[in-house]
Amino acid sequence: MKFIADRMLGKLVKELRMLGYDTVYYRGENTYELIKLAREGGRVILTRSTKLLPKRPEDRIIRVTEEKPSLQLRELIQKGYLSLKEETFFSRCLLCNILLDAIPREEAEGIVPDFIFYQQKHFSRCPQCSRIYWQGSHPENMKKKIDELWESTKTQAPNHK
Ligand SMILES: [Zn+2]
Repeated sequence: MKFIADRMLGKLVKELRMLGYDTVYYRGENTYELIKLAREGGRVILTRSTKLLPKRPEDRIIRVTEEKPSLQLRELIQKGYLSLKEETFFSRCLLCNILLDAIPREEAEGIVPDFIFYQQKHFSRCPQCSRIYWQGSHPENMKKKIDELWESTKTQAPNHK
């Protein structure tokens, strides 16, 4: 499932990318354009707006009811829209929404801080913005949150969908 999220959902966009979901962030205010982009990309629209309604059968819209950004990801998981796959976590650039390429460790030398270079074995790079990622390069609070969500879905009884 691929998403396009409206301008109200910036935090959710980064969290979805962190989970590995292809998520476009639409910062504009033109709902016609939003729907058009969703159709073109085969994306599900995420919005907080109650006014945005499907206009064609192929339009898929998920309304995020949770007001607090910190609870929105949990809402999507609890409603069964997301399936968490550990192997896709941290596979995508948070800024560009592009899959990262693994790079030889030597290529990170001199670019990442020395102590990181000596601590880490695996590095990857965004083909678009060239930002280098490593395990632990994502903000600690976001990682912690995903770990918690991951644990809670594993211990839950099978979800009705
Ligand atoms: Zn990037």
